[in-house]
Amino acid sequence: MPELPEVETYRRYFEATSLHQVIEAIEVEDPKLLTTDYATLTEALIGACFVKTQRVGKNLFVTTDQGPILRFHFGMTGDLEYYHSSIPRPRHARIVFIFRSGFNLGFICPRKFERIGLVEDIPTFLKEKKIAPDALTISLEQLSHNIRQKKSMIKPILLDQSTVAGIGNWIVDDVLFQAKIHPERLSQSLSNEEIERIFFAIKLVLETAIEHEANYGMFPKSFLIHAREWAPSPYEEALRHKLCPCGRVEIQQSQVGGRTTYFCPLCQTIP
Ligand SMILES: [Zn+2]
Repeated sequence: MPELPEVETYRRYFEATSLHQVIEAIEVEDPKLLTTDYATLTEALIGACFVKTQRVGKNLFVTTDQGPILRFHFGMTGDLEYYHSSIPRPRHARIVFIFRSGFNLGFICPRKFERIGLVEDIPTFLKEKKIAPDALTISLEQLSHNIRQKKSMIKPILLDQSTVAGIGNWIVDDVLFQAKIHPERLSQSLSNEEIERIFFAIKLVLETAIEHEANYGMFPKSFLIHAREWAPSPYEEALRHKLCPCGRVEIQQSQVGGRTTYFCPLCQTIP
């Protein structure tokens, strides 16, 4: 599933390819992918240019020079592909923005869980959907306040987009591993210093992921992600056998809040 680091990579790709070009037409293969009806969408966007992008969690917002704001949600497998009209349409490009320049931006929707539509304004949308500030920009005070409002295990609290936006399942496991906090720790038991460790671990994990353009195999060896089956890792010798980077014990797998969870029973103890 595209997580915050992938969506940030798409945002940068969008900025590098698709700004300041007049939209001539929009082709939509399946209206179910739209959260705004087709007539309203085309009326708002045709003749306009995309001028600015903003990402909050897994939501990508793109503002046009005429005011309307378009929201992309990448679902399970969404992606973007910019290409020239002279080459065939990419596979699964179910929504295509055709620019007057002869180039197109395809919204790749393999499994049709992706969505696109207009939003009135970004702060109102976020408030209605109860989406907290983005994980890369949230302040320590805001994060601490949002954690302390909830009484539960820390892992599900961090996965809740109303605590902080953009933290998915593997990210929270690596955040708690880096912060040396057990995923089942109760939020009420966390000290201010521990919440501060979580705050800095969020920044570390996300900045590392974005720096490597979400190529997880490139992460430093000190990350837990190498123990996950799906992450192609160059550190097969040690970590495929699930040895913690601490070298003392195997990484354990369990279910926390109904989600597959990896942790080190020595690095992340419950006091
Ligand atoms: Zn360990």
